[in-house]
Amino acid sequence: MSDSPLDVLIVGAGFSGICAAIQLKRAGITKILMVDQSRELGGTWQANIYPGAACDVESHVYSFSFEPWPYWSHTFARQPEIFAYMRHCAAKYDLHPHMRLGTRITRAAFDPSAGLWTVWGIDQQNNSQEWTARALISAVGGLSRPVWPQVSGLKDFGGPAFHTARWDYSVDLSKARVGVIGTGASAIQVIPAIADRVRHLTVFQRTPPWILPRPDRPIPPAERRLYALFPWLQRLQRARLYCGLEAHAIPFIHQPALMRVAQGWAADWLDVCVPDPSLKKLLTPNYSIGCKRILLSNDYYKTLQRPNVSLVPHGVTQITPTGALDAAQTHHDLDALIFATGFDAAESLSPFAITGLDGADLNQQWAASGAEAFKGTTVSGFPNLFFLMGPNTALGHNSVIIMIEAQTRYAVAAIKTLLDNNLRSINLRPEPQRAYNDALQRKLDRTVWASGCKSWYRTSTGKNTTLWPGFTWTFALQTRRFDPQHYDLK
Ligand code: NAP
Repeated sequence: MSDSPLDVLIVGAGFSGICAAIQLKRAGITKILMVDQSRELGGTWQANIYPGAACDVESHVYSFSFEPWPYWSHTFARQPEIFAYMRHCAAKYDLHPHMRLGTRITRAAFDPSAGLWTVWGIDQQNNSQEWTARALISAVGGLSRPVWPQVSGLKDFGGPAFHTARWDYSVDLSKARVGVIGTGASAIQVIPAIADRVRHLTVFQRTPPWILPRPDRPIPPAERRLYALFPWLQRLQRARLYCGLEAHAIPFIHQPALMRVAQGWAADWLDVCVPDPSLKKLLTPNYSIGCKRILLSNDYYKTLQRPNVSLVPHGVTQITPTGALDAAQTHHDLDALIFATGFDAAESLSPFAITGLDGADLNQQWAASGAEAFKGTTVSGFPNLFFLMGPNTALGHNSVIIMIEAQTRYAVAAIKTLLDNNLRSINLRPEPQRAYNDALQRKLDRTVWASGCKSWYRTSTGKNTTLWPGFTWTFALQTRRFDPQHYDLK
């Protein structure tokens, strides 16, 4: 264990962790450590390296406002460029001395008499680690725990099988009959990227997604040079994109009936891309657009019509040694299986145990009632603890980087209050947490996300624990200052 306590320990080195470390350093708080279980920084953008991985939000807004990047090669950057951007941020702000990679945090407990979090971890050589810190930031990300489908025989398959978030490039798929399970955001990127390199591709679709074209284009070098020369031009571009995306909050949240317009566009796109009426029927969703994440793709529908691709309009119910059995009891012979089955976001609790005041166990609390926090960031009974991308801070309509920056501003202001005033603890009172979450859930009940589909946004009991039901600027306004009146300061 290190001798003197850290000011802040950050768990996670993805976009949130990097943002927190940069802003803490800028605020003069330098006794910080960022711990991540992976050997690399980057969070979801170092884990999701599957062919075709790209962002479905334009890069000029899917990047930090304080670190614009003029050199994006496409309006929607591919994974390697986003990963390179994150590495650039870490290098520029000299974060490497503050990083401990390849170490998984297992447990954290707060000692109220000392005002310290003790945090335990385990490295890849199985050595135990222990730190104390005045404040703890959990920046573990919402989409970091891959989900495997609830089907029998998962371990029986004789060939290679992996999740899109754990892509195994050592497997040669070129002569293989490959099965892709799932038709969500990851699947519709990976399917077009591998279809021409495999012998045969079988796509298992349980629920068809609504898809719109992706308005992607290469950004010519001259335009990039202009952004580098005139940063205000890039800021203008960011503002334009931001306002366009922000307007989408109106149908999603305030006027779900307006989603019919987008549904018409998506139906037209399907019409244009798929002339065969029977295939079109299989690909037409039966829920309101926006209830699940709207997907963007220019080549998914085209790929499904290749001679070496077949669409199975059923989920998989069983994995066998030689393939997969679909819900209609048809067996499909396969050599390799790819699980594009998503992440545990809504049900997901903290990936490490967190013990607060009076032995309170955060995971137990969240398992009982669904994850919730105040402004997605603090939880009553868990002093000096801050979540980034915490409950109800993900978005259906804009860039989550905006939410991450807003939460970081709030957390850093609170931590500064703690350290500057030499406080032992800052603990949220229960009443503001209750009032905030009751209002949030009432709002969520009127959004398109509550219109009756099953999605990763909601728990099995139907509680939406993931999405922010509002404009991002209202969240940024709410979090622009730390509000000590809601907290017990000791
Ligand atoms: P997802 O949207 O949760 O999709 C999982 C898919 O697996 C669904 O189609 C689901 O069907 C299917 N599935 C699960 N069990 C199945 C079974 N037994 N048989 C057949 N299908 C089964 O996961 P994801 O595609 O990884 O995307 C998750 C989120 O990650 C996205 O919404 C997005 O926020 C993020 N993401 C973003 C990007 C980006 O471009 N920025 C790229 C990838 C992912 P049902 O619909 O019937 O449940």
